Amino acid sequence: MQNNNRLRIVIQKSGRLSTDSKQLLIQSGMKIDLEDKRLITFSENMPIDVMCVRDDDIPGLIMDGIIDLGIVGENVLKEELLKRQSKLEDSNYIKLMRLDFGHCKLSLSIPINTNYFDINFFNHTRIATSYPYILKKYFDDKNIIFKSCSLNGSVEVAPSAGLADGIFDLVSTGATLKANGLREVEVICYSYACLICKSNNMNLFKKSIINKLLTRIKGVIKARE
Ligand code: ATP
Ligand code: ZN
Repeated sequence: MQNNNRLRIVIQKSGRLSTDSKQLLIQSGMKIDLEDKRLITFSENMPIDVMCVRDDDIPGLIMDGIIDLGIVGENVLKEELLKRQSKLEDSNYIKLMRLDFGHCKLSLSIPINTNYFDINFFNHTRIATSYPYILKKYFDDKNIIFKSCSLNGSVEVAPSAGLADGIFDLVSTGATLKANGLREVEVICYSYACLICKSNNMNLFKKSIINKLLTRIKGVIKARE
């Protein structure tokens, strides 16, 4: 249940954003034992509780107004936003700031020995992805007709398994692509972790804690620039 006297922040439980998210909160002055495996941990010195979940659940918790603040990748945020908009579901949130970690990109890749000319290559292809809504928006804007093969993992093996002609997925070093005989042909967008906030009826007390926390987070990020 909501407690109007404590701010709730949601971060990734374990994964590429979790260490940086936990570190940011602690460096911002929060005394909290985030090594604990509990779903919700209480800060000792601030009226703040931290909830740790899978990153995919973070945008929805904010957009449904259940949790006040969240740290999530812009890639996951955008996918959830487009998905909710297409279903006319609640999709309100406020992006407070971009953070200085979680940098990655979403790219289109195809088998290494396939001839690539331009984006029209993808007309009438099937693309494996965990981001079907971002991909649809991108291709719709370019009048490219495609089919998606939605996978939540092992996206990079889809072409060699005969499931798809290419993939649309996160790329960091490119090592995974190479290991699966793929090459990046188009970068569609870049992403960072960001701090988001629910947009509806937050009380003044919570607003003042958010402002305080935001000032501290900005200070931490500035200091490590
Ligand atoms: P979960 O179990 O929480 O669903 P996941 O496996 O979906 O986790 P991770 O691989 O932990 O997700 O990545 C989380 C987010 O980190 C990505 O959605 C993206 O925003 C960001 N990210 C992806 N690759 C990198 C990278 N190489 N370095 C930093 N951040 C990254
Ligand atoms: Zn995830």
